[in-house]
Amino acid sequence: MLDVIKKASETGLVFCFVGVGSAFAKKHAQTSLIIAKNGKTILVDIGSNIPQALYEKGIAVTDFDYYHFTHSHADHIGGVEELLLSSRYIKKQKPKVIITPTYQDILWEKSLKGGCEYNEAGLLRFSDFISPLWPQWVQATPREIYRIEVDGIHLDIFRTIHVPAEVVRWEQAFWSTGLRVDGRVIFTADTRFDPTLFQHIDPSQAEAVFHDCQLGGYGAVHATYDEIKTFPDSLKHKMYLSHYGDNSRDYTPQKDGFLGFAEPWKIYQWK
Ligand SMILES: [Zn+2]
Ligand SMILES: [Zn+2]
Repeated sequence: MLDVIKKASETGLVFCFVGVGSAFAKKHAQTSLIIAKNGKTILVDIGSNIPQALYEKGIAVTDFDYYHFTHSHADHIGGVEELLLSSRYIKKQKPKVIITPTYQDILWEKSLKGGCEYNEAGLLRFSDFISPLWPQWVQATPREIYRIEVDGIHLDIFRTIHVPAEVVRWEQAFWSTGLRVDGRVIFTADTRFDPTLFQHIDPSQAEAVFHDCQLGGYGAVHATYDEIKTFPDSLKHKMYLSHYGDNSRDYTPQKDGFLGFAEPWKIYQWK
């Protein structure tokens, strides 16, 4: 399957979701995205069940050119330890990880260190496992943005408001980020309903927007379907829903002006 994605990416930017589910969804794997262009691949997020979901398509978690992680919930980084350990001890190479220095510290100190630090005599550090690629901070923007280009793929990494539920500004939120790719496609990753996001990250030039969507309930840390239904039609007309629960059959997003639910392993392409 990875060969199919790479082949498609030779003629344009490709998104292919390994999973589109929420943290507790069981019908789909947790939300994880393969970005591909020019035959190169970036795996965005490795939740706890993503190594298995990849395996079922004949893909190893170590098969990607680059990696990026949006935030520290286990449905996004629960499979990263497998990447680190299998890269170090089986493949014997360091995966290239696109990560800001700030989040590199948080991810190691708060999450990964416990399972990876004690593997040889002497304590290992994050840099023993990965080759970090640090994006540049884009100064003087209303929303914190970091920018990097790898093999012709341009990423803008922007801060989102996800947790805790009580905060109202992105500056107060725990580290969580979304992506704008080649200026053409936006992936919010996990976010609360946050209309100011689209004041800071202009969606008018985007050809597609993949947005977090919680089906039902109160939107404490995710955007609910009813909340994002209030976006203007011009935005909904290019919006796919991701990170959704197992009850998606109860919804018909196209009736409410959306493009639909993002589907796992479907190739979305922009030429
Ligand atoms: Zn999540
Ligand atoms: Zn989350």
